[in-house]
Amino acid sequence: MKKILITIMVLGLVLTGCQSTSKENDKLSVVTSFYPLYSLANIIGGDHVEVVSVLPVGAEAHSFEPSAKDRVKIENADVFIYHGAGFESWTDSVVKSLKGDKIETVEVSKAVQLRSNEDDHDDHDDHDHEGHDHGSFDPHTWLSPNNARLEARMIADSFIKKDSEHAQDYEANYQKFSTEIDSLIAEYTEAFANVKTRTMVVDHLAFGYLAADFNLEQKPIAKGIVSEEPTPKQIEEAIEFIKTNDIKTIYLDAFNAKKVVDVVVKETGVSIHELSTLETVSQEEYDKGVTYLDKMEENLKSLKEGLNE
Ligand SMILES: [Zn+2]
Ligand SMILES: [Zn+2]
Repeated sequence: MKKILITIMVLGLVLTGCQSTSKENDKLSVVTSFYPLYSLANIIGGDHVEVVSVLPVGAEAHSFEPSAKDRVKIENADVFIYHGAGFESWTDSVVKSLKGDKIETVEVSKAVQLRSNEDDHDDHDDHDHEGHDHGSFDPHTWLSPNNARLEARMIADSFIKKDSEHAQDYEANYQKFSTEIDSLIAEYTEAFANVKTRTMVVDHLAFGYLAADFNLEQKPIAKGIVSEEPTPKQIEEAIEFIKTNDIKTIYLDAFNAKKVVDVVVKETGVSIHELSTLETVSQEEYDKGVTYLDKMEENLKSLKEGLNE
């Protein structure tokens, strides 16, 4: 009996030893499901956190499935931050399996007022819906700057709970971010005060929250505009769509912008602007440490140009 007890104690020491060395400099270990939350966690956590994102750079966020290794990463974290509201198909089962553990789980969409998906879900044919479920709510909450602020608040509270020693720093980082969000909202509001059109034609209907905040409207494009191998019929429909709706500008994510069908642009004179959903960033942007605010500024620049064409 005594021998067993000693074995358990030694094992306990070994395990504790492993755990503390695996965390660099005793930083709070944070795992996020995808890029915007990765950025918010870094903004709020600063030097006190080590943030890892489960979704690899450039991967498609909606249909992603984590590996066994990813699950272990999450299990070993102090805080796991995910979106919820049907955005990730995989987080519910992961969070369920964590029940009873000491890990703090943060579902950021709980911080915001969700918008119904029914209005535009049936319209969008930008991707295959097999294998994922949008649920009844639009899951793209973070594209509203004010929602991002509410989500950052929730993240700050979780860090303060797990690492109260640095509560003041987390609070200060949140306050600074909140001020920057105020400026961003002021910039967006001013930019959209007088525009030629309030309609954005997009490849992914992810901008519902942004549109609602600033009195804009999003509409889906015809499939033939963005395609590796469009059929002649799709091209014809795309041209027809642009001409009959008198569309001057189309907004695409960086990946799709490279696949625009030249003949459609040539025939219609439509201009193409990049507009990011922030669901994923390029390796280059990731390495540079591009932030949520950087991407939102880029989007503003695109919209400012596009809505005045
Ligand atoms: Zn879908
Ligand atoms: Zn999306």
